[in-house]
Amino acid sequence: METEMNFQVLLYYNYVHIEDPETFAAEHLKLCNDLELKGRILIAHEGINGTVSGTVEQTNKYMEKMHNDPMFADMVFKIDEAKGHAFKKMHVRPRPELVTLRLEDDVNPKETTGQYLSPQEFYKAMQDEDTVVLDARNDYEYDLGHFRGAIRPDIETFRDLPKWVRENKEKIEGKKILTYCTGGIRCEKFSGWLVKEGFEDVGQLHGGIVSYGKDSEVQGQLWDGQLYVFDERINVPVNRTEHVIVGKDYFDNQPCERYVNCANPECNKQILCSPENEHKYMRGCTHECRVSPRNMYVDEYNLTEAEISERLERIEREDGVSQP
Ligand SMILES: [Zn+2]
Repeated sequence: METEMNFQVLLYYNYVHIEDPETFAAEHLKLCNDLELKGRILIAHEGINGTVSGTVEQTNKYMEKMHNDPMFADMVFKIDEAKGHAFKKMHVRPRPELVTLRLEDDVNPKETTGQYLSPQEFYKAMQDEDTVVLDARNDYEYDLGHFRGAIRPDIETFRDLPKWVRENKEKIEGKKILTYCTGGIRCEKFSGWLVKEGFEDVGQLHGGIVSYGKDSEVQGQLWDGQLYVFDERINVPVNRTEHVIVGKDYFDNQPCERYVNCANPECNKQILCSPENEHKYMRGCTHECRVSPRNMYVDEYNLTEAEISERLERIEREDGVSQP
C-alpha cells in the first residue's frame, strides 16, 4: 500500500566556486528533469541554492548523484516529508549571486563568517542575558513566526539589512549577536558581514530554522508561530512542544497564519487574512486594490457589479473611514 507521505522536499545550499554558472545550470536542469523533480534552484559563481520536491526515490537519487560529485560531497540536505510536490515546475537559473546584500565588496562566507551554533548551542545562547537575537529574514517571514524576543529589522528585502544595522547600531552593540534564517544560507553571508563590520561576538544558527525544528532535543522550543517557506506549502511547523500564534490578520488583527496575495496583480502584496475577511474585502489590501479592474478575486468568483457594490457598502458600513 502506498503511504500518504511518499514525497520529500529537499532544501540545500553550498558555497562552492562554480566556474560557468550558465552551462552548469543548463546541465543541472537536464538532470532534474530526468529525475522528474520540481523546484527552484539558483546557480552562481559562489555556489548553489535550491529547493526541490519529488518522490522519495527520485529525491534520494538526486542526493546520491550530488554527493558523488566532489564539489557537493559534503552538502547538507534538509529533508521534509510531504504528500506531494511543493512546486508546479522545475527551474534552474543562473544568477550573479545566491543572496545579495548590496555590498561595496561582497562577503565570502568561506573566508569570513560568524560562529556556527548547533540548534542546542543556539537554544542555550538565546537565553543568555547579554544576547540579542537578530532575525535575518524579511518582515513578512518574521510576521508569521520567529524566535521569542528576536529583533525584527524593518526591511522588505535581505539587501537592505546592512543599511538597517548601520542605522540601528545601538540595539546590538556590545552584545552577543545571534542571527538566524530559514536554512542558513543568508546568515552565512550576513554574519560574515557583521564580523567584517567590527562586531566581535557573532553566532549563526547552523542549518537554519529548518534544522532547529528537526533537532530531537530542543524540539523547536522558543519558536513562536510557523516558518515561512518559499514553496507551495508556505507554512511549516517548528516548535513541537507548543504552538503560539503570532501572526495577525491584516484586516482585524485577530490571530492568523494564513497568507494570501492581494488580488490586484499589480500589488500582489502578501497579507495574513482569514477566509471570512478574504471574502469581505475581495482579497484586496486597499480600496484601490479591491476596485482594480484586474482584481482576480472578482474574476474567480464571477462577482457582478451589484455584488461588488454590496461588499464595498458593507466595508464602508462596518469599518467606516478607518478601512484598510
Ligand atoms: Zn493590494
